[in-house]
Amino acid sequence: MPRDWDRELAALEALVRSYPEPSVNEIKSINGTPWSVLVSTIISLRTKDAVTLKSSINLLSLAGTPQDLMNLGEKKVAGLIYPAGFYNTKAANLIQIAHILIESHQGQVPPDKETLMSLPGVGLKTANLVLGVGFGIPALCVDIHVHRIANRRGWISSDKPDLTEKLLSDILPEKWWIPINRLLVSYGQIICTPVSPHCSTCPVNEDCPKIGVKKFR
Ligand code: SF4
Repeated sequence: MPRDWDRELAALEALVRSYPEPSVNEIKSINGTPWSVLVSTIISLRTKDAVTLKSSINLLSLAGTPQDLMNLGEKKVAGLIYPAGFYNTKAANLIQIAHILIESHQGQVPPDKETLMSLPGVGLKTANLVLGVGFGIPALCVDIHVHRIANRRGWISSDKPDLTEKLLSDILPEKWWIPINRLLVSYGQIICTPVSPHCSTCPVNEDCPKIGVKKFR
């Protein structure tokens, strides 16, 4: 029988409605430009949500455009996003990105996956989040939560997030490509956690092949 995505994902949607938004979605609600989503997504890599939100607000309050960010300089950018993980490397990448956007893209974030992925520090996951959350273009952002849960629930079988993105985009209806990241990040932080997930409170546990699992996969 074909999978009923609407039933399954609507159950998760109802569950996470009261959970805090992931930091990048929160930034989108505060300052909805693709630039702010790009900056926040870069800050979020290997960084906790609360730190990402604070660092993003600190930086974006002074760097609402690539030119503003260039004007701050690398040292000041690093100080504004501290204690985000790898803050010095991220500051260097953000300065380079701002420079490239000004030189080659009229100071705008390009709504194109390949161009986004050519920017320093921008991989598939970041590019897809910027396309989806920043531009509203259907794109599937597979982070550790989406990767883990898609495998646990038996939607796909993959040992790499990039392969998960490809396999999932073949079977998941396009209307879920953007919302699924927000859904599974919140659900993966609180219910379907990496270790000892809370299966007894999971609203879709009746058809989960990994119910009671202790660790990833
Ligand atoms: S039943 Fe458990 S392992 Fe399966 S999706 Fe729900 S929380 Fe995750």
